[in-house]
Amino acid sequence: MDLLSPLLEKKLASTLSFPPDLAATWLADGVLQLIPQESKSSTLIISAGIHGNETAPIEILLRLLAQLVQGHLSLQHNLLLILGNVPAMRESKRYIDNDLNRMFGGRYQNFPSGNETQRAVELESVIQRFFQEPAVIASTRRWHLDLHTAIRGSCHEQFALLPFQQREYAPELLQWLDGSDIDAMVFHKSEGGTFSQFTSQYFNVDSCTMEIGKVYPFGQNDLTKFSNITAALQNLITGTFSVKRQKPEIKRYRVADSIIKQDNSFRLHIPQDTKNFTALSDGFEIASQENQSWKIASPANFILFPNANVAIGLRAGLLLEQII
Ligand SMILES: [Zn+2]
Repeated sequence: MDLLSPLLEKKLASTLSFPPDLAATWLADGVLQLIPQESKSSTLIISAGIHGNETAPIEILLRLLAQLVQGHLSLQHNLLLILGNVPAMRESKRYIDNDLNRMFGGRYQNFPSGNETQRAVELESVIQRFFQEPAVIASTRRWHLDLHTAIRGSCHEQFALLPFQQREYAPELLQWLDGSDIDAMVFHKSEGGTFSQFTSQYFNVDSCTMEIGKVYPFGQNDLTKFSNITAALQNLITGTFSVKRQKPEIKRYRVADSIIKQDNSFRLHIPQDTKNFTALSDGFEIASQENQSWKIASPANFILFPNANVAIGLRAGLLLEQII
């Protein structure tokens, strides 16, 4: 069942008809609420395509949706499926005007009005509406998995980013991430404008951003590379979680410092193709701008998401330390 063409042609909502035991409501373009007739104590949000060119998660989400429509997956949660930035998907772009995943928690106000600011407003209100559903209010467990792929190569191909939160991370979520066979987890130490931060902070959801591989155009993804994630998501949806870890022990990191680009003098002193989680030597000047320089200081030796081409005021990289 091909759902990608209907999505890109704005025909997804009219294409689908659901089994009678699922109450389906489109809350916005690309945002589908599915509430099982039999009440569930658990709520799950799965989002993909917050960056429009990150196609593998979109294809995986559409595959899960097709299986739900066909009755091949028995839904054990109140579920919200979100295709994040549909206009950017149609243009095979990360975003049209600005990076949507920096705008949540009201930060859209700091950006000129455009496609993504409108979508951030819409997604925030959609989440609010979803959590006002009686079935969802009653649920005792709330998870949000925001699926992404990375622009660059990575020493750890698949990893999760846990938003900053003052309460403890849910052991069940960490266990599921471990079982899903991803390679690493990264814990944020301060609030950011990501979608997973928003649901965690404002709705007490156990949330994370998952980076599951590398960016390729639609149709060029080798979906077998994502079989561990797909299986873990299918198991989660059906409540039959049985995935066992096959890979070596998962690595854990925490964010030690954020490199923020403040003006046009900003430079990153590493090659363009530096992989995520590359270990850098003590004392190495990784970035500089007019009145500031960042030098590597142990134990924060690892670079994540280095990108000098971000807008001024935004994050151009994270320095991580490994948690032993
Ligand atoms: Zn992304």
